[in-house]
Amino acid sequence: MSGVGTRRAGRELAGEVAIVTGGSRGIGLAVAHALARGGAHVVIAARNGEGAAAAAAELEGEGHSGYACDVADPAACRAVAAAAQRAQKPASILVNNAGITRDGILVRLRDDDWSQVLDTNLKGAFNMIRAVARGMMKRRGGSIVNVSSVIGLIGNAGQVNYAASKAGIHGLTKAVAKELASRNVRCNAVAPGFVKTDMTAELGDSQVAELKGRIPLARLGEPDDVAGLVRFLAGPEARYITGQIIAVDGGMAM
Ligand code: NAP
Repeated sequence: MSGVGTRRAGRELAGEVAIVTGGSRGIGLAVAHALARGGAHVVIAARNGEGAAAAAAELEGEGHSGYACDVADPAACRAVAAAAQRAQKPASILVNNAGITRDGILVRLRDDDWSQVLDTNLKGAFNMIRAVARGMMKRRGGSIVNVSSVIGLIGNAGQVNYAASKAGIHGLTKAVAKELASRNVRCNAVAPGFVKTDMTAELGDSQVAELKGRIPLARLGEPDDVAGLVRFLAGPEARYITGQIIAVDGGMAM
């Protein structure tokens, strides 16, 4: 990626191609908008291809696209990376945001609840990183941002699968950062607290009140609260930052 000061202010990502998994809704959609505002060509990947394409069509600027892709499927991830390359050029930014929950207490958790969450949240990130890494290394530049969760830092009853997948993201992030640093490819993670999206829509009023009591800034996060940090980490201002897990949680996990 080019250095700071070589691009028009506010368009620091001009000319970059950014893949955002799970960019059709929630945090991923806010990230897609933030990167597009920064000047990037954004490629949205989600299981629902129509949703991905519709979200891409709404982004600021031109050259965006959306594809059907289950990140748990390595071939589908390779296909998205190849499609991005055909449409524009190889991706220089990857945001691994696709994620799911299948909550339940440990003794009632089904094998499928475990494997679906691990396959999407952790293996999905690995699949996508592997699909773009070679191109980034070859061009001596790139930024990977993994969307983790504070639950990966502090755990949560009823979410052993989700917590394990997100803690796994932290190890993945640091190992990838160490492996790719010599090629100027950075890898960081953001760990949101509770953010208002479809994923948290089913929280009841009493749960939200209880949560707010545990959050020093006393509110749930908005998707844009996370998107600003992802844009920063993706861009040239973060050129000396790699291997970090940064919480965006209103102070919840201090
Ligand atoms: P969301 O509103 O439920 O959106 C999830 C997105 O991921 C959708 O675009 C969905 O699209 C996509 N997706 C799900 N499974 C996929 C798969 N196998 N392959 C490709 N795309 C897939 O979720 P969110 O709340 O924005 O969460 C986004 C990320 O932030 C997740 O990693 C989540 O763990 C993390 N996070 C969220 C919160 C929170 O409070 N909301 C807190 C901490 C961390 P399709 O359904 O079309 O595939």
